[in-house]
Amino acid sequence: MTKVLAEIYKNISRCKICGVLKPISIECNFSNCKLIDKKHNKICVVENISDQWSIENSSIYEGYFHILGGTLSSVGQKREDLLINSLVERVNKDNIEEVILATSATVEGQTTAYYIQDSLKKSKVKITKLAQGLPVGGEIESLDDGTLFSAFKNRSKINSE
Ligand SMILES: [Zn+2]
Repeated sequence: MTKVLAEIYKNISRCKICGVLKPISIECNFSNCKLIDKKHNKICVVENISDQWSIENSSIYEGYFHILGGTLSSVGQKREDLLINSLVERVNKDNIEEVILATSATVEGQTTAYYIQDSLKKSKVKITKLAQGLPVGGEIESLDDGTLFSAFKNRSKINSE
């Protein structure tokens, strides 16, 4: 069993661009990363893959994802591990028009959102945040579809660009 698991982990790596976990042997071709569909001009920033799944399952969002893999204040989480430089690059290179910050309504999640907003201040991109109404301390993955839907629908612009 252990050997099987080790075998699996050996063949999985994290995409250095969008943060999704993928088999080492293939290029990242998930909708996260590549401009498969040019009509998409949004990137939704989430803390982990289960947040992405919740958002995908609710069918309220069409566009790319960026998986941070944690928050700034998570123990041992370094800024470069959150792939924020890569996010800034993606925004500039792929002509992204909106970055949706879908981090948790926790202190860590909000600190991380603020840091991302600050990192993107030179990019001409609209930055939005999910609406209030997220329960304090609420993690995206634990929200029901209705709450997630209205948080998305009522998201607000937080920068002046
Ligand atoms: Zn990728």
